[in-house]
Amino acid sequence: MIKNLFLVFKTAPAMVRKNILLELLHSMFIAVPTGFLLLIVQELFSGEVNQRRLWSYVLIMLSLLMVQLFVSVKTIVGTNTMTYTLSTNLRLRLGNHLQRLSMGTFKQRDPGDLASVVLQDVANFEMIFGHTVGNMAAAFFATLIISVFLFLTDWRLALVLLAALPLCWMMIRISNYLIVQQGGKHVEARNAIGARFLEYIQGIRHIKSFGMTGPRFGSLDKALNDFRRASIRTEAIPGPFVLTGGLVLELFFLLMLGIAVTFFAQGSLSAAVLITFLIIGYRLYEPLKIVLVDYVILRYMNISLSRVIEVLQIPEQGSGTKRKPTGYEICFEEVSFGYQEDKEVLHQLSFKVAENSMMALVGPSGSGKTTVTALIARFWDVQKGKVTIGGIDVKDMEPGEVYKLISEVFQEVYLFDDSIYNNIRFGKMDATEEEVIRAADLAQVLDFAWELPGGLQARTGEGGNLLSGGQKQRISIARALLKDAPIVLLDEATASLDPENEIHIQKAIQELVKNKTVIVVAHKLATIRNADQILVLNKGSLDEQGTHSNLMDKKGLYHHLWGIQQQLGGWKIKKA
Ligand code: ADP
Ligand code: MG
Repeated sequence: MIKNLFLVFKTAPAMVRKNILLELLHSMFIAVPTGFLLLIVQELFSGEVNQRRLWSYVLIMLSLLMVQLFVSVKTIVGTNTMTYTLSTNLRLRLGNHLQRLSMGTFKQRDPGDLASVVLQDVANFEMIFGHTVGNMAAAFFATLIISVFLFLTDWRLALVLLAALPLCWMMIRISNYLIVQQGGKHVEARNAIGARFLEYIQGIRHIKSFGMTGPRFGSLDKALNDFRRASIRTEAIPGPFVLTGGLVLELFFLLMLGIAVTFFAQGSLSAAVLITFLIIGYRLYEPLKIVLVDYVILRYMNISLSRVIEVLQIPEQGSGTKRKPTGYEICFEEVSFGYQEDKEVLHQLSFKVAENSMMALVGPSGSGKTTVTALIARFWDVQKGKVTIGGIDVKDMEPGEVYKLISEVFQEVYLFDDSIYNNIRFGKMDATEEEVIRAADLAQVLDFAWELPGGLQARTGEGGNLLSGGQKQRISIARALLKDAPIVLLDEATASLDPENEIHIQKAIQELVKNKTVIVVAHKLATIRNADQILVLNKGSLDEQGTHSNLMDKKGLYHHLWGIQQQLGGWKIKKA
């Protein structure tokens, strides 16, 4: 836990140092009046009571209390400021870090789980740290200071009181062990709820249309029940140890009392010291009882903190020499790649796309076309060989720099729940209004937008669900047009469109690819007849390569696929 906290503290070291000093000061102001209490008791039992001295002790204690109040306020404000600074730093670091991870990370990890690290685990740290760290620090320093007082007064009784600490420590260790076990399950159960809810809400349309409310809701129900059980156990299991720890302290206090009375009867202890230990002995144990409870909560926080740190330690995509290309020729050199280590998807693929030319990727479903486009955009890093843009390995570029060079249009379009206008503007945040409108015009967005209430200011809905597939596609092309990146990747952009929309989108795409280096994955082979070069992929390997007429002459896979599509051209849904 100390190691984890240390990593977090490193994000604001000066503030943490200042707070430790404040806590120390605060504890001194808690402990020092206890010392005066001791002096007052000794004065009372000294035989000849000096009224003036007694009153001055009381006055000093009173003024110390006033200062303590001031220091307390300072400390509380300091602790809060520190807590929120540290948690903000954690969130910022998580945000920056997530940006620099490969897409692969997001595919492999449950998105609900990642979201719960960023939202819940950091919040958990924030809440627990802010409320316990002050108590813990005060207890630590105050115990230390009061122990010194007690040792100076009577080392034998002090030793008895402090002998309780190792036993207490043992109780803490046992409950700690159980918390790590149980707390882990609790966090897992909590994340399962998040993931099930996410799935439920995202899939609600399908769940409803397939009438699956029963079983799908069942898994959410189960997750909720698991969480309830885990929560109860997490609360219940450390309880007995915390209570036993408290009991141990009480017992040692009684033991000390017994020994003190014996010493007093034997005459080896003064009444003043006896009374002092009665009062201060209790004071010593009070903060420790708080620690017993707080420590349990703090361990729980550490489970969350470990999860945050685990995410922070996922390796980021490196950026080697950070060079930027000047040309935009795209080159695959003997590229082998698999999403998982043991399953290669592309095998030693080599090809070259000249700057400002158009290459088409065709091949059966699952042959690796989308994977090729993803590797150009550096969504993943290749395992063997290299992908270069303008002669520079994409691994030597900042991932952000690579994205800047590329405009993508996919079959599945995601729009933000915002206006059409703003969704286009995401392509270039500093675009002028004229530029946005021009892009909307070229991409045939104005054609349908003017009929909507508010025109370009009409909202698209979450994920774009207020618009049709073709309309969303045109917006995404307008966005790409505005971005005006030198490389354009089109992945089955027209695959699922009705003929009318397809004509609009063909027009829009014509605008988009002007003077660009283009890689297009086409479902309908007729649309890529004019490509400068066609690459036919089969099971992740290069099967054929050439222009449309070359490939037709070869009578290979391309010729075969072309033939199938000609037949499909006359395909109709028939009623029996
Ligand atoms: P295409 O676009 O030609 O249909 P893909 O490039 O999407 O093919 O897929 C190639 C292979 O890689 C397929 O076997 C597919 O199952 C697999 N694949 C695609 N995406 C992923 C992914 N994110 N994780 C694991 N395997 C994947
Ligand atoms: Mg694909």
